[in-house]
Amino acid sequence: MLTRRRALLAGAATLGAAGLAAALAPGSANRSASAPPAAGAPPARRPLRPSEYRLQPLTGYGPPRTVPGRTPVRKEPLLRVPDHGRTMVLTFDDGPDPRYTPDILDTLARYEVRAMFFVCGEMADYNQDLVARMADEGHVVGNHTWTHPLLTSLRRGRIRSEMERTSDVVEKACGIRPEWFRAPYGAWNRAAFQLGAELGMEPLAWTVDTLDWTEPGTRTIVTRVEDGAAPGVVVLSHDAGGERSQTVRALRSYLPYLLDSGYHVTVPRREYV
Ligand SMILES: [Zn+2]
Repeated sequence: MLTRRRALLAGAATLGAAGLAAALAPGSANRSASAPPAAGAPPARRPLRPSEYRLQPLTGYGPPRTVPGRTPVRKEPLLRVPDHGRTMVLTFDDGPDPRYTPDILDTLARYEVRAMFFVCGEMADYNQDLVARMADEGHVVGNHTWTHPLLTSLRRGRIRSEMERTSDVVEKACGIRPEWFRAPYGAWNRAAFQLGAELGMEPLAWTVDTLDWTEPGTRTIVTRVEDGAAPGVVVLSHDAGGERSQTVRALRSYLPYLLDSGYHVTVPRREYV
């Protein structure tokens, strides 16, 4: 089991702020080659599952709670991480889901690898134990909004509520406010960048999309990760939002492959400079 203490020790190998700035590569060729412009599942093709807790009203629009330090307001999300050796980042969105997230955490622990989980607030609220486990095992818990809406269709106050409420529940579950944000469907707008910065979060997109939500088959997901593997790559998968057993099985296959290939699978580290 990768404990928080061990994770801290492993932190010496994580990434620095200077490199993070270098990672900002808006409009890079890599993006156009590996990720569609409106990356992620379009809302019309991937409807959210109705759930009774999704029907709960949102909280009010109070002033945002911020984390210490300065966070720049970006105009593009980060698409990859600095290339310090053969570094790769695995990200899992939309959870936690007790059907799949524990299996993913088990596999990551088996190989002593850290990853990022961009959780939805309503999922985190009902699975706070899993959020706590993520943090305790050294993973990074990011903010993926409360209900996974298309932010570009929302008013600013609603976007703020979606983001802030999610940061609140993550902090409640694990004691740490998210320092990373990912827009649902990869649909960013200026308000998302501004509000994310106000809440102390950097925007992170991805380099390689496994399209695992289409359930293309375990082998196909494995192939997409292995073919897309390269220094600095950020991989997008999902641990919730539908049937995700292919995602679980694929990780068990491609993770040892990446490690055997010499990749350092880790998480980026935020530093305030
Ligand atoms: Zn998502």
